[in-house]
Amino acid sequence: MNNFKFKNPTELIFGQGMIKELPKRVPAGVPVLVTFGGGSVRHNGVYEAVKEALSGYNMVEFWGIESNPKIETLRRAVALGKEHNCQFVLAVGGGSVIDGSKLIAAAIPYDGDPWDLVLKGYSRDTILPLGTVLTIPATGSEMNSGAVISREETKEKLVFRGNFPVFSVLDPEVTFSLPPYQIACGLADSFVHVMEQYMTTPGQSRLMDRWAESVLLTIIEIAPLIRQKPHDYDLMADFMLSATMALNGFIALGVTQDWATHMIGHEITALTGLTHGHTLAIILPGTLRVQGHDHKRDKMLQYAERVWHITAGSEEERIDEAIRRTEEFFREIGLKTRLEEMHIGTNVTDEVERRFVERGVAYGEALDVDGPMARRILEACQ
Ligand code: NAP
Ligand code: FE
Repeated sequence: MNNFKFKNPTELIFGQGMIKELPKRVPAGVPVLVTFGGGSVRHNGVYEAVKEALSGYNMVEFWGIESNPKIETLRRAVALGKEHNCQFVLAVGGGSVIDGSKLIAAAIPYDGDPWDLVLKGYSRDTILPLGTVLTIPATGSEMNSGAVISREETKEKLVFRGNFPVFSVLDPEVTFSLPPYQIACGLADSFVHVMEQYMTTPGQSRLMDRWAESVLLTIIEIAPLIRQKPHDYDLMADFMLSATMALNGFIALGVTQDWATHMIGHEITALTGLTHGHTLAIILPGTLRVQGHDHKRDKMLQYAERVWHITAGSEEERIDEAIRRTEEFFREIGLKTRLEEMHIGTNVTDEVERRFVERGVAYGEALDVDGPMARRILEACQ
């Protein structure tokens, strides 16, 4: 196990009706910038619940943070927050609203262009505190410090290390209004978050391995049940907590990580607009087809046995079967798993390779996913 320091300061406020707790956590007597997405919260009671909980507060509302939040939109939110001298940011929505609000909270006290902060990061001492009301289990953004911001102008989608929310309210009941496609994409995103931290060199930590496997097994168990009963509170509670646990740092203590699937997936979203979780359901099987028999081989055998209970056959056959079962899982939750099926052509592969080469980057645990390797992976996803 590698040395590590760990601190996750986000308070989780979990359960039915917990939006009522907001006044205990949001500072009174100061202007609060409250950020929203495209309007789903107007139809499922979340907006009313937040308004009611914060009646008497000076709420400055900003609407319209889109999926894959764009810097062009966030600049307007920052301007509104500055204009009203907001001292706290409350994000009400999914990963997109929360990620966007991480940048907003950092950029309100900053004098330059918010995009600078995406490129060069920022100090945690100079940001406004951020709270969240999560409406879709998927990203883990509610309990981590990462964010992903897009720039329309250049079709870029970049990750930056930002700020942890000071609290996040997770009420599983608010997920009942989610469309099946968003549930499927959230399940895929959570699954792949675990894989990015698990499908690495084996033997680094028994505890981290089993913790990661337990999240994978939970997602695999609940996914078909959620399709049958999307309004089952306990199922959605397990989904919501699995998504948070998949990316709040807990399963990554002292072990190496990968993230190549995500980095390729971000380019696919930036270039085609395909939903984040869906890109991962396509790219992960491709990554495993290319690397699963190579340096990921021993961990693949562990994954095959412990997650998919595959014990028969040669090592090659067990690895192939684990990849087949992984892809089948994504298909069973309702996602297509090949680029071709999504009408994504080889021009996108060419552009991803070009971008990786131009940036001089190489991702993955072994830092071997450069432009040509990204091409091989994307070709294995056709
Ligand atoms: P999202 O983009 O926040 O939301 C997806 C869609 O679901 C939106 O159309 C939203 O509508 C709708 N929606 C949300 N909650 C709903 C509800 N309760 N009922 C009905 N509709 C609802 O989805 P996301 O997957 O959470 O976030 C994706 C973004 O997060 C991507 O940009 C991705 O790259 C990023 N990401 C971040 C991290 C991280 O660690 N920070 C990790 C992975 C991915 P409205 O807009 O109308 O509300
Ligand atoms: Fe993700």
